[in-house]
Parts: sequence; structure tokens; C-alpha cells
Amino acid sequence: MRCEFAQWDLFETDELARLRLLVARFVSETDWEAARGMDLTDEVRVVIAAQASVLLLGLEIDEYFDVSSVIVHRSTVKLSGAHRSTAGTMSDAPQHLAGQATPGGPVVLAWSAVRQGARFPRQGNNVVYHEFAHRLDMLSGITDGTPPLGSDKAAVRWAEVCTPAYERVVAGESALRPYAATNPAEFFAVATEAFFTRPDVLVQHERELYVALRAFYRQDTIRRLNAELST
Ligand SMILES: [Zn+2]
Repeated sequence: MRCEFAQWDLFETDELARLRLLVARFVSETDWEAARGMDLTDEVRVVIAAQASVLLLGLEIDEYFDVSSVIVHRSTVKLSGAHRSTAGTMSDAPQHLAGQATPGGPVVLAWSAVRQGARFPRQGNNVVYHEFAHRLDMLSGITDGTPPLGSDKAAVRWAEVCTPAYERVVAGESALRPYAATNPAEFFAVATEAFFTRPDVLVQHERELYVALRAFYRQDTIRRLNAELST
């Protein structure tokens, strides 16, 4: 099916074959729910599944094991009640969420934000990459910004790179958007967005972080971007 996910052409033939399998599996095995007013078409399912599956492309897992369901809203979800703001202070102001992922619970997505990310894949942020990066983070048992890395050596290297990179965001000295300073879990989710959408910016300002993410995801997003620019 041809649809709004703008990046099908960027993948190598073998990547595309795996991506199509992952997407088909995600679409068929996910429990999809439409919030009131949302028309949950096949295209909506495929656009979400395609972006979620991009993260799995180089990994040795084929599914997000603990995702019970995906709930799709038409636009951003307004939440009221006290919450911690990006500045770390408590706030009662309503929140407008483009997405949310909680351990063992559903992934909530606003279609307006998903579509924006699919149509403009180089805009620098992407709610589907963000929320499903959280799901990968949760696979290690705790949501702390460290996904399953496979070895102690890789975990040590991850901490060596991510700790100072996180400190730079907190200090306001990073190319990552400020929301990454919320906590290490948000840092990983925002860094994942940058890795897949603007790897050129990431590699220029946070080269070691780019390399760490390339090693984790086993995808060379700079090479993919360069191929896009040369066509
Ligand atoms: Zn988040």
C-alpha cells in the first residue's frame, strides 16, 4: 500500500523487505483503538506501524512485546491535573500531548502529530519514534534511558557517552530540543528522534551520541540521509 509515510524509498532492498514484514506483523498483531472522532483507517495503521517498525529494523527483535494496544486520537490529547513541567517544576496548566507510552499500558498517539512526522520526516521531531523509543527503553525493565544493550561493555560505553550528553542538554548547551532535559528517559526518546530525522545535526553537534545510537539501532542514518540528498 502506498501511503503517507514519506520514506519508503530510502531503504535498501533488504531493509525494505524486513520493514514490510515488520509493518504487516505490527498492523495485524496490535490491538488498535480509535478515540472518539478518529477514523482509524488502514492508512493510519500502516503509517504508525511503518514508523514504529523503522526502530526495529536493525534489532534482533521483531515486535514490541508488551504493547497492549495503540490508541489513536484525532489531534493532541488535553490532560488536566498536576504534572511536572519540562523545567522540572510542578504545574497545573493543561497539557496537550502528542503521544504517551506507559509501561504495560497502551501507546497513545495523536494522528495530527503522527501525520506531520510522516509528511515531513526531516522536521527534527517525530512522535512515533519518540513513544516507541520509550517502549524499547522499557524492555530492560526500568525506564531510565538505557535500552537493552546486550553486554556490560556496551552499557559502560553507553553511560560514558550519554551522561555528559544529558548534562549538556540540562545546561542548555545541546542541539537536542530542551524536552530531552526532562529526565534520562526523555533524553533517549528525543535523541532517537534526532537520530532518525536529523542525523546530520546530531552528528555535527553530538558525534559520540550519534555513534552510540548507530551502534544500538544498527542503522546508519547519515548514509540514508546522504542517499536521499543525492537523488
Ligand atoms: Zn517522552
